[in-house]
Amino acid sequence: MTVAQQPLGEFDLIERYFARSAGVRTDVILGVGDDAALLRMPPDTELVAAVDAVVAGRHFPFDCDPRSIGHRALAVNLSDMAAMGATPAWATMSLTLPSADEAWLRSFSAGLFALADAHEVALVGGDTTAGPLTVSIQILGHVAPGTALRRGGAAAGDLLAVTGTLGDAGAGLALVTGRLDARDRAAADAMIERFDYPTPRVRFGCGARGLASAAMDLSDGLVGDLPKLARASGLAAHVDVERLPLSPALQSLASPQQAREWALAAGDDYELLVAVPPERWDALAQVAVGLNLKLTTIGELRPGNGVHWMLGGQLFAAPEHGFDHFR
Ligand code: ADP
Ligand code: MG
Repeated sequence: MTVAQQPLGEFDLIERYFARSAGVRTDVILGVGDDAALLRMPPDTELVAAVDAVVAGRHFPFDCDPRSIGHRALAVNLSDMAAMGATPAWATMSLTLPSADEAWLRSFSAGLFALADAHEVALVGGDTTAGPLTVSIQILGHVAPGTALRRGGAAAGDLLAVTGTLGDAGAGLALVTGRLDARDRAAADAMIERFDYPTPRVRFGCGARGLASAAMDLSDGLVGDLPKLARASGLAAHVDVERLPLSPALQSLASPQQAREWALAAGDDYELLVAVPPERWDALAQVAVGLNLKLTTIGELRPGNGVHWMLGGQLFAAPEHGFDHFR
């Protein structure tokens, strides 16, 4: 005898997949289950808040592994905390789902909570509705007063540096959408992994507090993001395009020109871009070494405005813009 499976209701869905005991943190006074969450801020800190949505067909292909969607939705928010030098603590999530598919939910929540646990972030509330797949997460964190990293703190003479390597996620997306040949399977899998599971540089961001003069995360590509930091600091950015850090996997899959273009404009890398006064470079480089993270100087800030790209000793016309939803 078989019992027809009842479709999962909204409350069972929340209970089963998102209402984990707040065990990970002792500062959650009240988590999922009431009208709002109650959180205890560490004494003498500033609250840091950000929200980012990921939309099916926009930020990831429709047939994307749900585990990677769960990871990505939180990762993009953790990356914003990293860019501020903030310590992430809590998250709320507005989830819009076409249907209550349990296999999908199991995999999605596994991806979300694996990353949440790695950063000791508690999901403390949210909202669940039916509709086109969209995951909007609000992240809350904290920072000692006056120490957050802003975009506008750089001074002329500061060095510009980026963490990790650039362009990998662009190659990963090109591979999953069939625009790039997977000539080397291992390299292709590494690039797809970089697109599906971006690594927010939270520990580096916290370590850069007091050292970096400005920071932001690279979500839209250097050509889209760097002008924002330069403008906020009231300076011109000068970048040596040859110095952009490219992974061996990217270089084995793409032509030098294609690799450079993805590194400049593809977006989705979620590496950090920082400005640092030359006298604090060594200390910041030590932070990166301690995290086994690559940190590469790509140029510097000077008086003036705009971004000046140099390649082979000449001004280089970079791709016009990074990712922009309304272009
Ligand atoms: P309300 O009607 O008061 O907004 P809901 O019925 O929307 O409450 O949600 C019930 C509880 O479940 C609330 O505590 C809410 O924060 C939580 N919640 C709802 N959806 C999610 C979700 N996707 N993830 C985490 N918590 C959720
Ligand atoms: Mg609600």
